[in-house]
Amino acid sequence: MSRISKICVLGGGTAGWMTAAALSNKFSALGLNIELVESDQIGTIGVGEATLPHIRFFNQALGIDERSFMKATEATFKLGIEFCDWGKLGDHYIHPFGDYGIPLHGLDFHQFWLRLNQQGLVSRLDDYSYPIIAAEQGRFQMPGEDLNQIGSNFGYAYQFDSSLYAKFLRTYCEGNGVKRTEGRVTDTELNPETGNVDKIKLESGAEIEADLFIDCSGFRGILIEQALETGYDDWSHWLPCNRAVAVPCEARGEMVPYTRATARQAGWQWRIPLQHRTGNGHVYWSEFISDDEATHQLMSTLEGPALAEPKQLFFKTGRRRKFWNKNVVSIGLSGGFLEPLESTSIHLIQEGITALIELFPIEHVDPLDVEEYNDRMGLDFERVRDFLLLHYVATQRDDSEMWRYFRSMELPDSLEEKTQAWMSRGYVLKYEFGVFLPPSWVAVMLGQNLIPTGHDPRADRPDQSELERVLEDIKSRTMHAVEQTPRQGDFLARYGAASQSPQLVAGAAS
Ligand SMILES: Cc1cc2nc3c(=O)[nH]c(=O)nc-3n(C[C@H](O)[C@H](O)[C@H](O)COP(=O)(O)OP(=O)(O)OC[C@H]3O[C@@H](n4cnc5c(N)ncnc54)[C@H](O)[C@@H]3O)c2cc1C
Repeated sequence: MSRISKICVLGGGTAGWMTAAALSNKFSALGLNIELVESDQIGTIGVGEATLPHIRFFNQALGIDERSFMKATEATFKLGIEFCDWGKLGDHYIHPFGDYGIPLHGLDFHQFWLRLNQQGLVSRLDDYSYPIIAAEQGRFQMPGEDLNQIGSNFGYAYQFDSSLYAKFLRTYCEGNGVKRTEGRVTDTELNPETGNVDKIKLESGAEIEADLFIDCSGFRGILIEQALETGYDDWSHWLPCNRAVAVPCEARGEMVPYTRATARQAGWQWRIPLQHRTGNGHVYWSEFISDDEATHQLMSTLEGPALAEPKQLFFKTGRRRKFWNKNVVSIGLSGGFLEPLESTSIHLIQEGITALIELFPIEHVDPLDVEEYNDRMGLDFERVRDFLLLHYVATQRDDSEMWRYFRSMELPDSLEEKTQAWMSRGYVLKYEFGVFLPPSWVAVMLGQNLIPTGHDPRADRPDQSELERVLEDIKSRTMHAVEQTPRQGDFLARYGAASQSPQLVAGAAS
């Protein structure tokens, strides 16, 4: 640590505390000094409850005990996302965290399924997915050790209270020597020669200097935008939803291990079950629905009494032109925003942190590292954008202005190529980077009725009756594995329950 000896993280939301936790875990022992500044007066955005499986590896790298984390954040397990009414009104499917079936003859399982499906000889692809069937039945257990077993080869994520996660990480960070300063930043001083941020100034009059600043100040982008005027690529023409209204409510019914995203006339609605409550929100395009109507639609579909007033949020989809500019790295909402349809924001925070650690400027900020960082994060954002857009364009709906807009939209080239390859032979072109692997694309494309006209010719090799027998066997083994799996409530009651909900207490006693 010869030159970069002090880091200032501006912001104490999920992004700020995750960044401070990871940097302190890696570099505190090497003498790196970390100070996090947050304003109680401004607060955090207070949404962001559903995650992707990668967050488990983030927590593991920090040495966080999963049971303590689940208790502290009122977390539930997540096996995927259920999408309702996206292809057509009345449709639903689950995008699972895991593959379908098992690869046969070195080829993706779905190719054999396509062959039999084209002959009308097979049940839905979902019946060959352990995480889908387990999710549908409200069941959960940890994946087993033997990856060849059905019931082992899947991933899981969490649904948690993000404000409790930030609190949990704050305790972790303070244990690692991170200094927390409360106060509102009112001014920034730039170096007249380099243009770097030299110091930030607080309302109290205090000043904080650092070698590197991490801007986690949320949509405000206090350093990356207000101070450095980096610029923003607006992606609203692809993902035009620009507002959301969010409200928690009392939980009702079984605690299911999945998030639900239901398409609406001018957007979509989320439902995220936690241990102590259910999170709900309506993401919408203000061009086609008023705030009052969007709020009314949300409130009239809550499963239980609301636990707070609905909270309105405004956003513009897109990304900062440079995620890292001068001596400022933007992580979290300050770096860009893509709507939460596939729970990707916290994952993009994690990607930003991982890339920063890998390219960490030990001696000085190297322009090559900065370029590499910006390229990597740019690709990550683009890949997620394409995947989100797929949900809107792979639709047969034309019952509202919004759906008609998407049906006539010109796609980004990257997505156009991908859907064409899929429609001819069920190929999923692999991206070099990007969080979503082929099974995720298969889930959404088939789930939204994009049925390929052909299949890979190699899937024709196995004898017909043998193939039918193998698929039947995989299906019955999948069903059997799910039958052996406990209900999530029972599993949680023994594993990481925080609340005293009757369901969990009953589970613990049984
Ligand atoms: C509608 C919606 C739903 C979402 N759902 C999900 C989801 O399900 N899953 C997911 O992964 N992500 C989701 N997200 C994204 C997720 O909420 C964010 O990525 C995450 O909360 C990180 O936010 P942040 O820390 O960047 O910003 P914030 O939470 O806004 O934190 C900003 C911090 O900066 C501080 N600050 C700001 N200005 C100043 C100042 N002048 N001086 C001092 N401090 C300042 C604030 O006090 C705060 O501590 C959702 C986002 C939206 C809008």
